Amino acid sequence: MSYSERILADLAAKYADQPEFVQAATEVLETIQPALDAHPEFEEAGLLERLVEPERIIMFRVPWTDDKNKVQVNIGYRVEFNSAIGPYKGGLRFNPTVTLGMLKFLGFEQTFKNSLTTLPMGGGKGGSDFDPKGKSNMEIMRFCQSFMTELSRHIGPDTDVPAGDLGVGAREVAYMFGQYKRLRNEFTGTLTGKGIPFGGSLARTEATGYGLVYLVDEYLKCHDDSFEGKTVVVHGSGNVATYAVQKAEQLGATVVAVSDTKGWIYDPEGICVDALEGIYNRKRSGNDKGVSLANYLEWRPDAEWHAEDGRGVWGVKCDIALPCARENTLHLEDAEKLVANGCKIVGEGANMPTTLDATTYLIEHGVVFFPGKAANAGGVAVSGLEMSQNASHISWTFEEVDSKLQGIMKSIYHAIDDAATEFEMPGNYVAGANIAGFLKVAYAMMAQGIV
Ligand code: NAP
Repeated sequence: MSYSERILADLAAKYADQPEFVQAATEVLETIQPALDAHPEFEEAGLLERLVEPERIIMFRVPWTDDKNKVQVNIGYRVEFNSAIGPYKGGLRFNPTVTLGMLKFLGFEQTFKNSLTTLPMGGGKGGSDFDPKGKSNMEIMRFCQSFMTELSRHIGPDTDVPAGDLGVGAREVAYMFGQYKRLRNEFTGTLTGKGIPFGGSLARTEATGYGLVYLVDEYLKCHDDSFEGKTVVVHGSGNVATYAVQKAEQLGATVVAVSDTKGWIYDPEGICVDALEGIYNRKRSGNDKGVSLANYLEWRPDAEWHAEDGRGVWGVKCDIALPCARENTLHLEDAEKLVANGCKIVGEGANMPTTLDATTYLIEHGVVFFPGKAANAGGVAVSGLEMSQNASHISWTFEEVDSKLQGIMKSIYHAIDDAATEFEMPGNYVAGANIAGFLKVAYAMMAQGIV
């Protein structure tokens, strides 16, 4: 049994109740064995044993009162996974499906993603099983204040810098920032994804979706190709999806399908970004409880609305598929449809949207596959740029941030391409991303001793 197989077997037995975490660890450890073979000193130093355990897990109750003055209690978490190359950095997710296992999976992934960005950021993730859907603005504020009252003891600009994720957008970050500032009496860049008037970075909103398209574009350019004339389908219609659609269309592609939890849209004329932004804002306002992607027809009456599982987008013929909703939303049968329809590239805007068997099928059938830890790193990269701007008390223009983002996504593409080639798996970007992300963290951990 190899070193990585032994660690995985232990992990699967110990954390059988955390399937997403075991899945994420499997995906990484299965591909980094060649790097472990090249560095036998890692095993002697128990490096993997330490890498798969978070440095710290914080769990706490979050009591708040709803609009009927009834006391509600949720669970809050922060998983501080790895700080070998910088302060913990990663989003907060508010969603009823949140569990410790899910946040461990996201924090583990984040460690390698942050390593790939070229910026000094460790890995972390947090959140709560709180469901923001259908809550009033005041309920959201009271929840965020209570959540931050406890979390504020554990974070700081040089310790742990949270950001948004599912269910946590600019509004929630602002409420948490306000409470942090009030409790700590300091105006620092402890949260990213802040509003522009109080330390936020321009282009953060667009960064993940744009970054995804920039990375795929760099691959295309290196193969004498471009987005021009390509047909693209996108799963999801939230933050990542919307700006992936916008950038792909700006580069000359036609995006023909998007989805949400209620169904999916087919619009052969090209998805209207104004409609996606309008629907997103109405969903987030909390005042328009019936709104869904079906309202897209208000902008484009000739588009088709399919009130069925949004995975229907995977049956639409395309050159490039961008899963941008959430984990495990591209299954083996979806991968089979994509391959049968001639799809050439899959780029993960979401975290781990493709199941392990679907990923294997796509790669084995010659689809160029960009895993989320590389492809959606643009968001956290601009969060890192927000930290730099806050620390030096300056603000860059949209164009300055966008141009740095393009540079980072280019360098991520070349880092994962080079690592895949160096370890004799050319074109396997899952292996390339895991190895490149892993080695930087591993070298830092080795240098810092057994901690
Ligand atoms: P978001 O704005 O909340 O959008 C999520 C989208 O996915 C919505 O269209 C939502 O539909 C849909 N969705 C949610 N649950 C689903 C399910 N079970 N099946 C199908 N569709 C579902 O979130 P986001 O910020 O775009 O994040 C999307 C993904 O990208 C997540 O995996 C996140 O971790 C990852 N990510 C985000 C960033 C970032 O900067 N935002 C950075 C890196 C990675 P409804 O509107 O109907 O709920």
